Amino acid sequence: MRRRTRQVRIGKVRIGGKAPVSIQSMSKTDTRDVVKTAQQINRLISLGCEVIRVAVKDRESASAISKIKRRISIPLEADIHFDYRLALLAQEAGADAIRLNPGNIYRKEQVKEVISAAKANKIPIRIGVNSGSLPASSLKSSPAKTMVKAVRDYLKIFEKQRFYDIMISLKASNVADTIEAYQEMARFCDYPFHLGVTATGTGSEGIIRSAIGIGTLLAEGIGDTIRVSLTGPPEDEVIAARQILQALGLRREGVRLISCPTCGRCQVDLVKIVKKVRNDVRCTKYDVRKRAKTIAIMGCEVNGPGEAREADIGIAFGRGSGILFKKGKVVKKIAAKDAARTLLNEIKR
Ligand code: SF4
Repeated sequence: MRRRTRQVRIGKVRIGGKAPVSIQSMSKTDTRDVVKTAQQINRLISLGCEVIRVAVKDRESASAISKIKRRISIPLEADIHFDYRLALLAQEAGADAIRLNPGNIYRKEQVKEVISAAKANKIPIRIGVNSGSLPASSLKSSPAKTMVKAVRDYLKIFEKQRFYDIMISLKASNVADTIEAYQEMARFCDYPFHLGVTATGTGSEGIIRSAIGIGTLLAEGIGDTIRVSLTGPPEDEVIAARQILQALGLRREGVRLISCPTCGRCQVDLVKIVKKVRNDVRCTKYDVRKRAKTIAIMGCEVNGPGEAREADIGIAFGRGSGILFKKGKVVKKIAAKDAARTLLNEIKR
């Protein structure tokens, strides 16, 4: 059961309510460089990114938004810190959503101005609190409680203005604090949540922390849109986000690869075959299409035939060759050296 939330729209993307959990990322280029930023965003779109956030650190970045938007096909959220006037400029430039940080834009009158503009422009605002940018004076309580209190105090300004097109995020670098903050906040409101663990680090460390934080909440039915934050290329964030949703059965898109870990029974170079298939399919249209395909590549007759038969396409290997299955039926015997190519052809077909 998913937490019941009200629905908001970032451009054409619905967040909350019964909308599917959407995938966000953030561009890592200098927003003022329109060409580079749009190129990066378009790569992310091809991988499945549905909403992009850009850093708006000055007036020039804000005015670049309109030019970037002309070159991309997904909604854009402007990430604003310190200077509320940038939130106004970003809206003038056509931003589809604004992210405000209660830790650094907190003067009531300023927040109210941003809200009035968002009301006029009919766009939502994300209240995005980060454990790293909370006022030092507020850190006496636990990080989760402090973040929740910061959001609840901030919400009062919005609700007094009768503004409800709100999304909320409460990101800590500590996974347990992040989970606790979202769980706690869920008790107080029905605004949709943007999930993420912040500053998770690089590579598998970052992916695991994100997957545990985001995945735990999603498994509890909490969360409406997700962003995996990694110290690395944003492409990896989008791929990881998709894999989290896929692992939880929340999105059944693209190629879902099942492969065994191999052991002493395996008599083919299974790792090479699996890597070849994964790498050749990743980032292609086959990997982001709406209808999912399960591909099983298994090392021997112990679990191989069972998994291969269950999959849309599968191979169960034996000594130097394998049996190809399609929709549960045996199709033919193939040599190990032809396996990757055969599977790729079948996926494309
Ligand atoms: S399917 Fe066969 S080769 Fe693969 S891990 Fe299981 S027993 Fe080992």
